[in-house]
Amino acid sequence: MSKVRVGILGSTGSVGQRYVSMLKDHPWFDVAAVSASEASVGKKYKDAAKWVLDKEIPEGIGEEEIIGASPSEMKKAGVELVFSALPSDAAKRLEMEMVHAGLGVVADTSAHRMDPKVPLVIPEVNFEHLEAVDKQVEETGGFIVTGPNCTTIGLAISLKPVMASFGLKRVLVSTMQALSGAGYFGVPSMAILDNLIPYIKNEEEKVASELLKILGEYNTERFVDAKVRVGASCHRVCVLDGHTEAVFLETSEGASPEDVAKCMTEFVGEPQRLKLPSAPERPIIVRSEPDRPQPRLDRLSGTPERAKGMSTVVGRVRKESALDNGIKYVLLSHNTIRGAAGNAILIAECLKAKGII
Ligand code: NAP
Repeated sequence: MSKVRVGILGSTGSVGQRYVSMLKDHPWFDVAAVSASEASVGKKYKDAAKWVLDKEIPEGIGEEEIIGASPSEMKKAGVELVFSALPSDAAKRLEMEMVHAGLGVVADTSAHRMDPKVPLVIPEVNFEHLEAVDKQVEETGGFIVTGPNCTTIGLAISLKPVMASFGLKRVLVSTMQALSGAGYFGVPSMAILDNLIPYIKNEEEKVASELLKILGEYNTERFVDAKVRVGASCHRVCVLDGHTEAVFLETSEGASPEDVAKCMTEFVGEPQRLKLPSAPERPIIVRSEPDRPQPRLDRLSGTPERAKGMSTVVGRVRKESALDNGIKYVLLSHNTIRGAAGNAILIAECLKAKGII
């Protein structure tokens, strides 16, 4: 099987580096183009990227020249599918330029997540929303699929089996979000050391709206939001990678903490059934220790090796007597792996398995 040639927009950033690292030796995809801002164009990747990952820059990519973020540059490099890790303002224009040039785009950015024709996908949760891609291809020749905000992904994964088994009325979440979620230059060290910041612009609104689209339905015409009440409070903490979230639920039917832990542990989705290369064997790992999950210990959870950081880790599942049918738990999800590049690569694997690319 010949590999699909892929390009990375925003390849030098926090998420872009994850793409570069995770696509090394990928069985289905070959990185054919690395792109960044005008200031980096023409430089070697190793000189343009402020590399922060503990694995080395993959051999070959370090010497690659950064190209401009235009469809013509991507096409010149023989790219068929573009991964976008651009800042939102640049993404708004550039992603659609790629689509109208007939390219496929899988985006981590918020620019098009809520567009009525664009699916917002976590493959284990709403694989069927990928049906919307066919219509886009008919209309433009290209397509775009988006992945959710890094805070929404772990939350939606943990909720899916609970909603399917017991119904869901209300979700309240309080987050403790890692620094890498804001990008390399996002939060100055003077602002965050010995501190936390109880505000992340637009984050609470994104969690609520994205969650309802993902947990909702696609009826071949449009996306219909799930009928769940959602409230979020989002906070930046002094952790490098891994978003922790304290979740409080009101289910439709009564469920014990053991019932909830069991349905989460047994949960698998289409990527597991299709045995996709980046699919974790267990999308949710439930831990029984009273002091887990913890970012340093649990953020790279997931097997096999290619799926490290792709599992959502849940712990402290217990009753919440202040809510009707109340359950509460803590979850941890790696924000640049499952929360961004890893989820997008898994989407691309779904597109390949469906014959779209
Ligand atoms: P980042 O570290 O600031 O990286 C931004 C990247 O975009 C860099 O490669 C930068 O290139 C490039 N870039 C900036 N302006 C550009 C322009 N006008 N044209 C072309 N390229 C441009 O940001 P990040 O944290 O990786 O986030 C990237 C996107 O993913 C954002 O939309 C963010 O909201 C989303 N996201 C992030 C996370 C996370 O956990 N970090 C999770 C989910 C989604 P230079 O190096 O040349 O400046």
